[in-house]
Amino acid sequence: MEPVRIAVIGAGLSGLICARALAAAGLEVRVFDKGRGVSGRMSLRRIPGNSAHPDLQFDHGAQYFTARSSAFREQVQDWITRGVVSPWEGPFVTLTRGQCGPDPGNGDVRYVGVPGMNAICKDLSLGLDVQCGVRVTGLSRGGGHWRVAAERVQTARELVLEEEFAAIVCTLPAPQAVELLPEEICFREELSAVQLGPCWCGMVSFAQDIPVAFSAGFVQESPLRWIARERSKPGRPRAPDNWVLHASPDWSRQMLSRSPEQIASALLAAFSAALGRPLPEPIQYSQHRWMYALPVSPLAAGCLVDPGLGLIACGDWSAGDRVEGAFQAGQAAAEAVRGLFLGG
Ligand SMILES: Cc1cc2nc3c(=O)[nH]c(=O)nc-3n(C[C@H](O)[C@H](O)[C@H](O)COP(=O)(O)OP(=O)(O)OC[C@H]3O[C@@H](n4cnc5c(N)ncnc54)[C@H](O)[C@@H]3O)c2cc1C
Repeated sequence: MEPVRIAVIGAGLSGLICARALAAAGLEVRVFDKGRGVSGRMSLRRIPGNSAHPDLQFDHGAQYFTARSSAFREQVQDWITRGVVSPWEGPFVTLTRGQCGPDPGNGDVRYVGVPGMNAICKDLSLGLDVQCGVRVTGLSRGGGHWRVAAERVQTARELVLEEEFAAIVCTLPAPQAVELLPEEICFREELSAVQLGPCWCGMVSFAQDIPVAFSAGFVQESPLRWIARERSKPGRPRAPDNWVLHASPDWSRQMLSRSPEQIASALLAAFSAALGRPLPEPIQYSQHRWMYALPVSPLAAGCLVDPGLGLIACGDWSAGDRVEGAFQAGQAAAEAVRGLFLGG
């Protein structure tokens, strides 16, 4: 009997959770991602430093996550047992123009991947057929099956995929999924309504420590909404003093097309203002623009399914947002595929 082949587009958390569950159910799964490695918005950014610190690392997307549902708690416990995840103890503060206030959290434990946030997706991808550096450019349907058109990102050369897929699971951020998926999908309206806000991210390194006693701050009255000291997370290098700066969605939206120099000087000035002190000279500064960082209007659907077409779309945006939402979305998508081909 021909195996049931499923293509999963996107090797972020939702795609990999889905792919693992489907592979465990005996389906033949191939995962494609345009990134250089797995992890999507949970990626680690490597930046060349100086001779003393040649390889600098930053969690430039997701910073930490919480676990509220019992299914996700169980998964997190497994990751902790295997050393893939650890609690991040902080301390965390609010920062308002140099004034420190209390942690605004509700007492939930904050977790991170070890030694980087990408450890989680790297672990999930083990044993799966995952092709990175492959951008899916189109989907076509004939004879009840899907064909995937793709190109290698580095060369922009077409990649010929001979096989046919019984179903497609698309885990792109909703606005990108709208572009890729065929016009006739039954959930186009719901998908088109989902928005994700942008985020400018600064990554800055200092040879000399910034003399503050906290690990991360929720910033108020500032272009920034979050700053974090990388080495305060478990398993990170102790030096140099690397910081991640995340701008607020509103500021990021207003500044989307500003020059890199304008963004850099605004984010560093906002960092200094949030700390209420001048900064030492950085040994490096880099930045990244996330066009689709966090869902503004997430759905609570789990995933969106077109059973007639064998097409499922999911991501953090379809199941309540953030890392835990992505986990739930991946599980819901796997459940939907099992329902289509294995009868539940
Ligand atoms: C700046 C920032 C801060 C965040 N902070 C937190 C936080 O503190 N806590 C928290 O819980 N969450 C946070 N998040 C959100 C969290 O990262 C996401 O909820 C989660 O990682 C989403 O996973 P996903 O699998 O749904 O999507 P993604 O990780 O976006 O995965 C989609 C994948 O699709 C790939 N892709 C896109 N187009 C194509 C294509 N055409 N062909 C092939 N592949 C393609 C991408 O490369 C990507 O790997 C943050 C995100 C950002 C960006």
